[in-house]
Amino acid sequence: MTDALERQYQVLLTASPLQRVGAFALAALAKVGHLEQLTAEQFKTATTTMTRHLLATADVAKAADAGGFWLSASYMLWPNSKINPTARGKQSPAERRELITLWRAMPDAADWPGVPCSYCDRPACKWFGKVDIPLGASSEHRNTTAPGHEGTPLCYPCVASLWAFPYGAQLSGGRAAAIHSWDDVFLAPVTRMAVQRTLAAAQAPVQKTKPGSYPRELAVLSAVRAYGERVHAGVELIVLSNSNKEQFLRTQEMSQPVAEWLRSTTIKTDRRAGYQALVTTQAAKAVPGEAFLAKRAFGDPTAILFRTTAYLLDRVSAKGGIPVEATGLAPLVYSYCIEVLNMDEKDVARIGDLARRLAALLGQDSRPGPFGGFMRANAKGGNLYGWFRSQSVEWLLKTRPAGMPRTLLPVEDYRLLFDDDRAWSHRRLLVFSVMEALVEAGWEPKGSAEELEDIADAAANLADDDTN
Ligand SMILES: [Zn+2]
Repeated sequence: MTDALERQYQVLLTASPLQRVGAFALAALAKVGHLEQLTAEQFKTATTTMTRHLLATADVAKAADAGGFWLSASYMLWPNSKINPTARGKQSPAERRELITLWRAMPDAADWPGVPCSYCDRPACKWFGKVDIPLGASSEHRNTTAPGHEGTPLCYPCVASLWAFPYGAQLSGGRAAAIHSWDDVFLAPVTRMAVQRTLAAAQAPVQKTKPGSYPRELAVLSAVRAYGERVHAGVELIVLSNSNKEQFLRTQEMSQPVAEWLRSTTIKTDRRAGYQALVTTQAAKAVPGEAFLAKRAFGDPTAILFRTTAYLLDRVSAKGGIPVEATGLAPLVYSYCIEVLNMDEKDVARIGDLARRLAALLGQDSRPGPFGGFMRANAKGGNLYGWFRSQSVEWLLKTRPAGMPRTLLPVEDYRLLFDDDRAWSHRRLLVFSVMEALVEAGWEPKGSAEELEDIADAAANLADDDTN
């Protein structure tokens, strides 16, 4: 093969996430470890494999029949293409095979349009439209064409990458869901696993199982946690449908710090030990904890901290004492605040010191009242500043544990809680840290049923604030 031909069959990575997922899927289909090692010969093997999968549907009467996986998927991926024309029912298997083969073949060089590929700038082999380019293949490359234009010019390796994209995605519920990242080293094995799953699904009998909560977000969380190297870029979840009935595209990003922190929960011993407890804190009535953790990791990372505190407060309200889980959760909560919520390490340490002073104050005897007062002051409509003013006097008068300063709330701590963009997160961290410090001190509230009920109510109120 000449060098020029070799280049024409070389798969390059472009700025289009779908093309990139497809490029790695082609490498996986050709069973090549690294995309750079994909030779022209192996590229052809991969495209032939894809065409063979489509050709196998020629003998299938209906998409729901055995062997109809790619025919079924084609309505969502490639509507009005040669695999699923309106007249399909009247065509013979031989006619179907002929049309599919023609669709997927590389056009003759003599027929090339003489314009560059809009993804990679190499000579395009044809103008392509909605049939071959899923909606929003990248934000700059919409698949709707303006009147008078002939579509989007693409070279053969780029269009083949788009055809391969569904192999690197999970096809279910009328959508294709793919994991993408600009970290190529991460994207390669994640796509390879997706391809293996898709190939297995295409072979398996059609199953109608009810999906769990946030299955696609959960799949990203699992992929990130299973990954063995550092994640160097954010991880995107792309969900799309190119069908006639519903054109849909949604991209969500799990930021790099969240992804890397989630991965750390499988590596660092203390974080790994507390992970299940963290998962438990994230659950809701109808949503398992890990699914909700995954969902929040995309859309609302702060909610993970708030939900953790709310869970512990719910437990306080249920049993009247401080739940011991606080200790196991501590390494996760502190690292999360620093690595994901971007809190300064020194600030987190300050909040921890303040929490120990508060725990010494609130836990000086077994009366539950003072702890209840602290939680009420933190709830919506509570006056935390007023509470600190009155407690500062107490602190000054009381015998303080050795090494603790006379000032309960120094000006730096005041700023963190009352005059900072992250004041609300700092306050929730303080509530968490106070509970942790009370557990460490072995504090158990004792009092009348009424008094214990009172702290249960205060805890429940504060937990509600964080749940809504
Ligand atoms: Zn190209």
